[in-house]
Amino acid sequence: MQKEQAIEMMKAFSDANSTSGFEEEFVKLFTETVKDLADVEVDGMLNAYAAKKENKPGRPVIQMDAHSDSVGFITQAVRPSGMIKFVPLGGWVKYNIPALRVRVRNRDGEYIPGVVATKPPHFMTQAERNTLPEVADMSIDVGSSSREETINDYKIDTGCPIFVDVKCEYNDKNGLFFGKDFDDRFGAGAMVAILDELKGEETNFNVVGALSSQEEVGLRGAYVTTRKIKPDLGIVLESCPADDTFTPAWLSQTGLKRGPMIRDMDTSFLPNPKFEQYVCDLADQNKIPYTRSVRTGGGQDGAAMYYENGAPTVVIGIPVRYEHSPYCFTAYEDFRNAVKLATAIIRDMTTERLAGFSKFN
Ligand SMILES: [Zn+2]
Repeated sequence: MQKEQAIEMMKAFSDANSTSGFEEEFVKLFTETVKDLADVEVDGMLNAYAAKKENKPGRPVIQMDAHSDSVGFITQAVRPSGMIKFVPLGGWVKYNIPALRVRVRNRDGEYIPGVVATKPPHFMTQAERNTLPEVADMSIDVGSSSREETINDYKIDTGCPIFVDVKCEYNDKNGLFFGKDFDDRFGAGAMVAILDELKGEETNFNVVGALSSQEEVGLRGAYVTTRKIKPDLGIVLESCPADDTFTPAWLSQTGLKRGPMIRDMDTSFLPNPKFEQYVCDLADQNKIPYTRSVRTGGGQDGAAMYYENGAPTVVIGIPVRYEHSPYCFTAYEDFRNAVKLATAIIRDMTTERLAGFSKFN
């Protein structure tokens, strides 16, 4: 895929509205983008399956995974004032929520702009200036003045999803994207770019790109995709939080323009060590930069894939600064190197190599 085409795809992917349980807009965009490269199916949970066109029955399967949802919110109830009481979907911290511009999808499917309301400083007590309210006490204002107006005129009520509203930009000077929901639109974009690289090519393994739903609320979609695909090998394409702005250099394990991050541990996952080392060796051979990471927080779909079917699974993470906040930076070159590494694994994989990952000697 040409650089310009990849940049336009990633901007569109980032701008799409998709949060856990409400992934349809992005799933639609993804399936349209990938339809000439793969046979596409979508299940009732909105998981999408993109099977490489050259797949043949009876061969072992490599499952790629990326997730379609991003952190967002859902309307819990409308307050008497007309303001919306909301509940987070996925891992938010309250520091990143106030004054956020959002779009609420109403009952008619229209997007209504709104803001996470904050009291003007003029009215704040000294104590209020120095404390942050709990999320349960925050509200979203769409400009309404009563509960009736919000429900009857704006058509917003319990269950309506709420999305972060930020437009993605690409800066050619520094090679960085700046926008929202890079977790995990960059993984999804990488999956498309990998299928594009392999277009028309015979590989030893069948390849299925699974775009799973509801990752941010507990890897739910990936359990379903893995049971369906029954992979022999897993490649998770994630967008991983960069630590290079606040961690000393000796401890920093995910940074912009340092290549994809290969995950050695997080709270959900410990990979097959032989496969993990194989991937690092392959990156060295191909002169692809990468970092390895041992994390004491976080989790990702690799856990569901690995534990559901016992297939050796690697997590290739594209570094994202300020993940799970409304504004993120990601480097084009890291995206490109993640695509190169995953493509190299698929091209290099044989049944003998695969068997070697579970042999002891
Ligand atoms: Zn993610």
